[in-house]
Formats: sequence, C-alpha cells, structure tokens
Amino acid sequence: MIAEEIKKIHALLPQGVELCAVSKFHPADAVKEAYDAGQRIFGESRVQELLEKVKVLPSDIKWHFIGHLQTNKVRQLIGLTSLIESVDSIRLLELIDKESERAGVVTRVLMQLHVAREETKFGFYPEELLEYFSNRSFENLKATHICGVMGMASNTDDMSRVREDFRKIAATKEEILKIAPDLRGFDTVSMGMSGDWQIAVEEGANLVRIGTAIFGVRNY
Ligand SMILES: *Cc1c(COP(=O)(O)O)cnc(C)c1O
Repeated sequence: MIAEEIKKIHALLPQGVELCAVSKFHPADAVKEAYDAGQRIFGESRVQELLEKVKVLPSDIKWHFIGHLQTNKVRQLIGLTSLIESVDSIRLLELIDKESERAGVVTRVLMQLHVAREETKFGFYPEELLEYFSNRSFENLKATHICGVMGMASNTDDMSRVREDFRKIAATKEEILKIAPDLRGFDTVSMGMSGDWQIAVEEGANLVRIGTAIFGVRNY
C-alpha cells in the first residue's frame, strides 16, 4: 500500500518537484517500506522520534525537520538533517547557526511563513521576513544556508483561499530574491500537503510534504 502510494505520487509530480514523505507518528517499518519503493526524503516533527528513526534506518535517508523546533532541542538535531524546514524565529535561526558552527557543519534551512488564517501560531509574517532580508542580517550567519521558504495554507474547504495562501508564499520568496538578488541557492518553495499539494504545485511549489496520503491517518 505505502509503496503503491509512493509510486503513484512520484509519477504525478512534475519534473523538479521533490517529495518529502511525512512519516511522523508512523513506525520505522513504514519508513522502510517507502524507502524500498525509492523514497529518500522523509519529514519528522519531533526531535526524539527523529533520533530514534535515524538509529535504525538507512543512512542515505535525507531527513527534513518540519515541526516547531524548541531551542533546547537544537543541539541534538544539528548534523542529522538534510533540511530544517521550520525556522520560525530569528532567535531559533541564530541558535541553529551557533550550534552548527560549534559542530563544524553547515545546516540547510527554510524560513517558515505564516500566511494561513488562524491555524498555527508559528512562522514569520511576510513583512517580517522581507525586513530581515532587507537588513541583510543573513550575512552574519556563519554555518547556516537559507535555502528558501516553507508554508502552510489555511485549513479550509475554500480552495480559492488555499490557492491565495500558496500564491502569497511563492510571491514572498520572489520578493526576497528581489531585495537580495545575491542570495545564493535560495530556491526552495515547500508547500502542499495531502489535501492540497496539486494546488501548491500549480502555484510554484518545488517541494511538497505529504503524510496521510502515503502512510494513512496518524494516531497521535
Ligand atoms: C504533518 C505535516 C504535514 C503532512 O500533512 P498530511 O496532511 O498528513 O499530508 C506537512 N507539513 C507539515 C508542516 C506537517 O506538520
């Protein structure tokens, strides 16, 4: 079942759009099944769960951290991820940078945008992020590579609202590039989940994060 869903989604995704299979709350066996079907990028939202899976699963898996990252967990996570998608404050960004430098690694991150109505309280408002880049504060980072933006659409059946949210996320990334055209490798737009990834791709996503449609419903 998992293998079939992975293959189906791989076949549907246009060239240049990557799949992050969101395996949070699902056992390592399920990840292995997806891995054997060719999937390599997996998303986790809790540090402890990611640490446990890293121990028992193949070392060529690219782990994406997609949940709210508490500052007291940063040190444990550094060096294990291929991408931290959910940087939601400057304080967190600076801590990731400090710990990465200390560990002698470069950490790739995305800045999480807050465009959805209500939903999560995490992420930057577009204006905050534009301000961060116009101040060129990113030049102070020593061991962090900001690779783009991540965001979620409003949790609603109103698909025009969802599309509008995705459009806002993609447009913010373009505006940042206009403000700081010398930013290198700032090209990732991570948006779209099980219920709305097709719309996200239409609006410019090049990384989608899909959990339920692959692994089934989660038991929290
Ligand atoms: C859980 C989660 C997903 C996956 O959601 P599904 O609806 O199960 O596909 C995607 N992105 C983030 C940030 C998540 O926390």
